[in-house]
Amino acid sequence: MKKHFAVAVDGPSGAGKSTLSRAVAKELGILYVDTGAIYRTVGYHTFSKGLSLDEAGEKVTSLLDEIHIEMRYGADGLQRMYLNGADVTDEIRLPQISMYASCVSALPEVRAFLLEMQRRLARENSVIMDGRDIGTVVLPDAEVKIFLTASAQVRAKRRCAELEARGTSEPYEEVLRQIEQRDYNDTHRAAAPLRKADDAVTVDTTKLTFEESRDAIICVIRERIGK
Ligand code: C5P
Repeated sequence: MKKHFAVAVDGPSGAGKSTLSRAVAKELGILYVDTGAIYRTVGYHTFSKGLSLDEAGEKVTSLLDEIHIEMRYGADGLQRMYLNGADVTDEIRLPQISMYASCVSALPEVRAFLLEMQRRLARENSVIMDGRDIGTVVLPDAEVKIFLTASAQVRAKRRCAELEARGTSEPYEEVLRQIEQRDYNDTHRAAAPLRKADDAVTVDTTKLTFEESRDAIICVIRERIGK
């Protein structure tokens, strides 16, 4: 396989990007970068200041100077997020932080603030990086681009199962509503909206098992990069 390469994985919330990208990274021995976690960290900062969602969107730009984000990898290889020195890896997964992340990520100033951090990771490592604008904006020259998707209903069902496993269950209707709201936000914003890059390969996991989805992604990568 080629020595240094990047795989960009974009798609809507709950399509399985992080679980699948992590599994592919392990299989290929490359670094997995979850860019949603970076936006969540910014969203968490506004939440922890006690701001409402609307206020978060209005004030986040003026708060960027006080936000210092670091990404470290634990001995288990998992990505941990640090906000001004504190480990916030678990806090950013709270269900209410998803909407804060979606809200602050719509601002061009926030996206510009986080761009170089993401590009540096890809310069220094072979990566599989997942997000919404990786193939279109962050790594437009990535060797492999995948657009991972699934129906909103299936994504909501999977998210419910995930929340239940974490002990933070939420009703299916509410999870579906939030997924549809985030899809709308992510695809309609002016700054780096979620869209499939022209040269991305679509992998629709609606009817695929986890293993089938993982193999489909590895197959696309091997075809593009070599064995
Ligand atoms: O992927 P995840 O659901 O953790 O991302 C949280 C939110 O961060 C998304 O709803 C999206 O609005 C935003 N995001 C983004 N660009 C990325 C990754 C995430 O705008 N590259």
